[in-house]
Amino acid sequence: MANDTFQERLEAVQARVKQACARCGRSPAEVRLVAVSKTMGPEQIREAAACGLTLFGENKVQEAYAKIPECPGCLAWHMIGHLQRNKVAVAVELFDMIHSVDSLRLLEAVDRAAGEAGKTMPVLLEVNVSGERSKFGLTPDAAPELLAAANLLSHIQLAGLMTMPPFAEEPEKARPYFRRLRELRDQWNAEHRLALSELSMGMTHDFEVAIEEGSTMIRVGTALFGSRPKPAVQQEME
Ligand SMILES: *Cc1c(COP(=O)(O)O)cnc(C)c1O
Repeated sequence: MANDTFQERLEAVQARVKQACARCGRSPAEVRLVAVSKTMGPEQIREAAACGLTLFGENKVQEAYAKIPECPGCLAWHMIGHLQRNKVAVAVELFDMIHSVDSLRLLEAVDRAAGEAGKTMPVLLEVNVSGERSKFGLTPDAAPELLAAANLLSHIQLAGLMTMPPFAEEPEKARPYFRRLRELRDQWNAEHRLALSELSMGMTHDFEVAIEEGSTMIRVGTALFGSRPKPAVQQEME
């Protein structure tokens, strides 16, 4: 990595955010940075917190369960990975937002668990905009049922949408998917009398494009923490 301290890497990300915002006339204050700390230990998270970061993203409940108590208490945590229903109760206790709700059953389970925990859980619907088979997320056709249901559930707060476009070397290739997510948000707000505001989209290699298309939360891991060890399965296949 060219930049070798966390502070330098953070400044590089902030500069990229600022440039992207300048290109499209947005304020950097409209774009929240979710520092994706999956696979990183409490030591690295403390270093990030010391540089002023307060919002962290994790993709596995078990990993977060072990890690969060070891980290400073003032941090906010977002669940960004696929959530299994049997882990919902723990997720509701640990996290301040869930980005990855992708079925009615999961939405109802989160509502129930939040009710039991005496809280209102902010959630995003993960939408599979590309229709790619391997991706999690609900298809746009399935959303109206969830949107209608969400209006009746009292322990969730539906705050917006999240997406993961298919991986492409060229960040521009992600633009149609980011744009589509924004259009869906606007369309569903109008059709279902909702006020969804958040768009969780953009990662290390494509967040500038996501910002240009209206992202309000970018989820950035590698550009901040450096590259992660590859998952074991992938290593075996190589
Ligand atoms: C790992 C992960 C990210 C961050 O990816 P980078 O390319 O390292 O920035 C963002 N979103 C989700 C859902 C992830 O699992």
